[in-house]
Amino acid sequence: MQKRTVAFSKHASNLFFHILTRCNLACAHCYINPAQHGSARLSIDTIEQWLALFARRNPDSNVIFLGGEPTLHPDLFRAVRYARQLGYTSITIDTNGYLFHDILDRITPDDVDFISFSLDGATPETNDAIRGKGCFDQVVAGIRTARRKGFSCSMIYTVSEHNIHELAQMPELISTMGLERFFIQVIGLRGESSKDNTLQVSRRIWLDVIPGVAHTIAESGITVTYPKVFLDPGQDFECAGNVAQNYFVFPNGRVYQCPVCEDYALHSYEIRDNELVSMPPVNESDLFKLSIPEGCVMNKLVQPGNIEYLPDGRPAWKIACCLLKEELSNRCL
Ligand code: SF4
Ligand code: SF4
Repeated sequence: MQKRTVAFSKHASNLFFHILTRCNLACAHCYINPAQHGSARLSIDTIEQWLALFARRNPDSNVIFLGGEPTLHPDLFRAVRYARQLGYTSITIDTNGYLFHDILDRITPDDVDFISFSLDGATPETNDAIRGKGCFDQVVAGIRTARRKGFSCSMIYTVSEHNIHELAQMPELISTMGLERFFIQVIGLRGESSKDNTLQVSRRIWLDVIPGVAHTIAESGITVTYPKVFLDPGQDFECAGNVAQNYFVFPNGRVYQCPVCEDYALHSYEIRDNELVSMPPVNESDLFKLSIPEGCVMNKLVQPGNIEYLPDGRPAWKIACCLLKEELSNRCL
């Protein structure tokens, strides 16, 4: 078994491209915030221009198409093919499983590297209580169809207090699905989830559950990625905003470098006339430069529930950048 912490890379760039914000579901923890991200659907012309803009900035870019539900966009297949034409290193579609507009018939496995399905429970009871009735069955059927057509598939499980009890059942559930990658995410308190203060998982429970389940899944040959969340004692803190190139792009033109900032008008850039324009201070990049004993400044501001303090006032641990990941695989990493 190989385990590594995925260091931030100055050279690779990740474009998290929200091509629309509309969705057929209304998940209890949805991170979309219409007041901040609008309700626009980008035209295919604009999508292509923005894809070209980021490909020019960094030829070694990965793109992840997101929404809302990106398959609700009737031109997603065109966007995917154009991203391939531009030479994006990897292309992923994140979907809630409904796979609208016959997307799997309009692209081929050569057009896209991964179709990534979101599932937040090992049973319909738990998943559908969070994501909506019928969603569990839809995801399972969607993965089956995608695999039959030869697409590489991955899954994202967003962990909160409402579903961590079922994570240990996931290795068995996914054992016959033919997934290549499994991503464990931690709930971020933004959008709808910012209204619920019962979602965050404690450090003790996180450390008790996550590494063990990740190990079990990785043993079956599936590569597992999960966020570090809590730094080990003595481990250095680094903010991805200072060293990596991650762009979270919304259809209203806002471009964030940090997903924890997405509920606020703190974006580093805006796209205007198909150019990336830096925003004046104060924006998220001013926060990235601050050094505090708790580690991540935005976690301290937005989700302080995952920090505890010693009697002398020092934080008991540092919170890692939400983009710092551990990767486990029984293949060579
Ligand atoms: S979390 Fe994703 S699938 Fe769920 S409502 Fe929001 S955009 Fe849709
Ligand atoms: S999560 Fe924290 S450490 Fe990571 S980019 Fe955002 S502000 Fe920086």
